[in-house]
Amino acid sequence: MSSKPFASSADTEAKRRTLEALADGVYALTAEGDPNIGAIEGEDFVVCFEALATPVAAREWLRILRRHTDKPVRYLVLSHYHAVRVLGASAFDADIIVAHEKTRALIAERGKEDWESEFARMPRLAQEPESVPGLTWPTLTFSDRLTIDLGGERGDLELCYLGRGHTEGDLVAWLPRQRILFAGDLVEAEAALYTGDAFHQDWSTTTLDAVSALRAETLIGGRGGVTKGRAAVGGAIAQTRDFLTVMLREVGAVHARNGTPREAFDAAHAALVGAYGRWPIFEHCLPFDVSRVWDELSGVERPVIWTTERDREVWDQLQP
Ligand SMILES: [Zn+2]
Repeated sequence: MSSKPFASSADTEAKRRTLEALADGVYALTAEGDPNIGAIEGEDFVVCFEALATPVAAREWLRILRRHTDKPVRYLVLSHYHAVRVLGASAFDADIIVAHEKTRALIAERGKEDWESEFARMPRLAQEPESVPGLTWPTLTFSDRLTIDLGGERGDLELCYLGRGHTEGDLVAWLPRQRILFAGDLVEAEAALYTGDAFHQDWSTTTLDAVSALRAETLIGGRGGVTKGRAAVGGAIAQTRDFLTVMLREVGAVHARNGTPREAFDAAHAALVGAYGRWPIFEHCLPFDVSRVWDELSGVERPVIWTTERDREVWDQLQP
């Protein structure tokens, strides 16, 4: 058995939440490494981005947002299917819940297992878990791009699929006029990456190239603070790419010499801990990350579904 507490089960300290207005009617709520969320005002409606883990958690955020706008939520946009991003959806009373078509398929295929897995891995985020009424079902999906006209002089909000990355169906929300990008978990700013459901080779190359090509001036990643300025945005993207590239290199070397997943974990940990070890959820994520890199390099095309049992097995197998 591993001597470390499982995943983030021992992380019980609440984080400070900060709402920032990034431009007229564009808001980001960050929380010291907990999942970030956002909102974009249209002329007579609001678009919310991400839903947090439970309706109780989401209502706390909505209370903060309601100090700035009382417009109704027409669209709730989900960047991907992970439970801590989607299960608070019912609190928004949104007319339309938007996601990529693959996200809808993933919820059907593995939403229930993911819910159980994520709430056990990080119980602190699952505030009053019994308040979740069930899985969150997107009511509008797309494959490539969906444009929301914000009305008046506010311009467009573009929802874009940029390739496989953190999951099979991540979307980003892009405000071309303000050059503000809500990147979901495709980019993290000074927070460790969770890649247990990822496609490392696509993500670290073509997908991040496509994120970079938007040339955002402000970026809200999945976790961590708001990144401001072209140089800092480039830095956050580069950090995300580096984390993935180092994992692929280290796990790849052990895999190529027919070593074991445990050896791959040790090699990846040693190579990453100096730069990333102090960042939120680093120790929590790494066993699951290495397990998926190993599978990917072994030709397992789609991530194996995480269950609470498999979580414990991998944790006990890989953690020192
Ligand atoms: Zn995620």
